[in-house]
Amino acid sequence: MTVKLASPRGTKDILPEEVSQWQELESKARAVFKTYGYREIRTPIFEDIDLFDRSLGQTSDIVTKQLLKLEKREAQEEYTNIYIAPSEAALLTLTPGAIGVPSLVLRPEGTASIVRAYIQNSLNKKESLSQFYYIGPMFRGERPQKGRGRQFHQVGVEVIGLKALDNPDLDAKVIALSMRLLKELGVKSPDLKINSLGSKQDKKSFSSFLELHLKKDFNNLCEDCQKRFERNVFRILDCKNEKCREIVRKLDLKGAHLSKESKEYFEKVKKALQRLDIPFEVSSHLVRGLDYYTHTVFEIFPQGKYGSQDALGAGGRYNQLVQELGGDDNGEIGAIGFALGMERILLEKPKSSAPEKENFEVFLAHHGEEAYEYAYTFEEKLRTVGVVAGTSYDANLSLQSQMRWVDKQNVPYAIILGENEMKEKKAIVKDMKSGKQEKFAFKDLIKKIKKKLKKGE
Ligand code: AMP
Repeated sequence: MTVKLASPRGTKDILPEEVSQWQELESKARAVFKTYGYREIRTPIFEDIDLFDRSLGQTSDIVTKQLLKLEKREAQEEYTNIYIAPSEAALLTLTPGAIGVPSLVLRPEGTASIVRAYIQNSLNKKESLSQFYYIGPMFRGERPQKGRGRQFHQVGVEVIGLKALDNPDLDAKVIALSMRLLKELGVKSPDLKINSLGSKQDKKSFSSFLELHLKKDFNNLCEDCQKRFERNVFRILDCKNEKCREIVRKLDLKGAHLSKESKEYFEKVKKALQRLDIPFEVSSHLVRGLDYYTHTVFEIFPQGKYGSQDALGAGGRYNQLVQELGGDDNGEIGAIGFALGMERILLEKPKSSAPEKENFEVFLAHHGEEAYEYAYTFEEKLRTVGVVAGTSYDANLSLQSQMRWVDKQNVPYAIILGENEMKEKKAIVKDMKSGKQEKFAFKDLIKKIKKKLKKGE
């Protein structure tokens, strides 16, 4: 018995009846971005592993556990035959292949690639504020479950440039855009949580603060958090384990680590959100797992649902990233962005009914070999002038059954081609609703059909 092929674990086919929902999301998102003056950017779906090592941080969950690596087949020098590492173990392998050969990974998120593209194409020299948006698939080797796939889709933005530095009003505008987008995409009153991680220096003191206060509870932390304590203490704040949550709840976090400047900056972001009438909650436990975030971070949830699989999207500032990836030796370049999960949005938004299948406007019914040949080529001619046309590719199908089918499908017009019509070089055009029939010379047929369908001249 042949083994049936299936899509890889954690991936999903989007069938034609669902595609319309996706197209609706995409076109609504594009329309919103247009009003904000953002332009689309498309970067490759795979990148050198170093990009994510250097940006997301070597201790982040994504880099340690979730990168899907593309491996060379043995004895092949080039990546001519890329395949996704098939085993779980391979997902954990981060060592590059041969020395000097970079490892390629499927992109797990958009920000790092866009910053790479920004630097590589010297976009900072072209404009002092770049506003990008992207829509596309991302890949993470996670354990698949509802709302969590190995291939999923994000719509997001990145705003990068000198003008984006030290500008709390911009933070609020970017957050406002994410909320506006969700509203336009059909998500009702999502909850916004915000926090400030402060500057790079503030993050260091925050990290020392956490180490100091969590040390005494080290043995009570879950196994994962004990590792996190060594590698990335912030992640303990995100842990879903009830025991760890209890320990974390006892910590008095309320921005203790923030410098005066960072506190003032955060206050201005909050004020700007209030000016824009955007409700939010400050959540001092919100840290985000990636190294590159500084200052404002935020996360958006469906109303009242705060589980780890529920977040609709997240984002924040990352002022050091351009510099850290080699972009500018002169100092920080401001940057802020967010990504929304499209599968999660579709789970939350009310389903719009699937559109009807595209209906033919004209069907060419034929009888006899010569009529079939004529219909077969004339169908193409109608399509080139924008008419949704169809015919049967079975030369032997009776005219009667073709007409029965046309009747059932609600096609407005039938062009009937029989032996007489071929001799006269005229076709019958039947209005299927009224039953009225007219004869037109072949040479006038396109013009007459377009007129009937009101498709201009
Ligand atoms: P993150 O980059 O992890 O902050 O992700 C931003 C958003 O993308 C999340 O809030 C989710 O909506 C979505 N997302 C992230 N990972 C997945 C996944 N594995 N499956 C589906 N959606 C995801």
